[in-house]
Amino acid sequence: MEDYYKILGVDRNASKDEIKKAYRKLAHKHHPDKGGDEKEFKKISEAYHVLSSDKKRDQYDRFGKAGPGAGFGGAENSGEGFGGFDGFSQGGFDFGDIFEDFFGFGGGPKKRRKSGEDLKIRVTTSLEKVIKDEKREMTIEKLVLCNSCNGSGDEKGAKKEKCSSCKGEGRIRKETGTFFGAFSQIVSCPDCEGEGSVSNKKCKDCHGEGRISKKEKISFVIPAGIDSGQTLKIDGKGNAGRRGNPPGDLYIEIDVENKTKFKRKGADLYYDANIKFSQAVLGDTVELKLISGKVISLKIPEKSFSGKIIRLSGKGLPKLSGYGQGNLYIILNIEIPQKITKKQKEILQELHKEGL
Ligand SMILES: [Zn+2]
Ligand SMILES: [Zn+2]
Repeated sequence: MEDYYKILGVDRNASKDEIKKAYRKLAHKHHPDKGGDEKEFKKISEAYHVLSSDKKRDQYDRFGKAGPGAGFGGAENSGEGFGGFDGFSQGGFDFGDIFEDFFGFGGGPKKRRKSGEDLKIRVTTSLEKVIKDEKREMTIEKLVLCNSCNGSGDEKGAKKEKCSSCKGEGRIRKETGTFFGAFSQIVSCPDCEGEGSVSNKKCKDCHGEGRISKKEKISFVIPAGIDSGQTLKIDGKGNAGRRGNPPGDLYIEIDVENKTKFKRKGADLYYDANIKFSQAVLGDTVELKLISGKVISLKIPEKSFSGKIIRLSGKGLPKLSGYGQGNLYIILNIEIPQKITKKQKEILQELHKEGL
């Protein structure tokens, strides 16, 4: 069995500091980037990973390498990450990095200029309003450019210093062991975000972020003919990027509320019209209120039947494309009265005798 203490060349009673020093020295010497042996380097990393954690070291001392919690899969909540994983430059790493680097949430070397986050909001309008373009103004809370530092994140007079983590390279190599084997990859330096330099004084207002949370008024147009579930995209109106990076976009999902008597299918509207038996047989002219609020005369032809559809061309909604209008379809339904007067009954009986 490999002895972690021997690998690092330290005493069993070595202090944390001594272990760290020994590791640094060896890691430097066996660094694969500097022509070192990768296997040796992994051994060193693993030894350090265990011995640098009080809990793991204790378990290792008591149970050896195969003991609970040692090596792979040790459940530890110290924030040092999964057992067996290790980043070599600092001996430790955080959980977030692992997920980002291994499971592909934006994994791989990050883009140098990472945009601000996209934002998504929902806006409700009504069917009556989508007959024309609707101007909207609203206030949303989002991250905007910090005025104090103009987005740089640096205090006035701050100086740029070479990032010590990556030695100004902007990238670091991350050596990682997983259940599936070890591999290494080049990642953007988390300390300087790939810039290679860090400011010695951060802006007090935004704490170096270059952006602050603020309520901002936005205005946009909900285009005529829009339907529920459709989304508007407003370029550059999402969160401001960190440290002067470009902003994200704003997505506005539209909900079209319909409290009218019309049913909608795309740009077409449907309306169920109840008519009387006499209107159906004799025909009639009735008033009809369109979606626009305009009242028109609708001619019910004689001998209309239940289910007959009258098409009013162009009286639907405007098409989202901006070209043309949908139609309005009136579906006739002959109502059977549930209550009739004595006189109506007599007349109907007369009609019945006449064969109607
Ligand atoms: Zn600032
Ligand atoms: Zn760096």
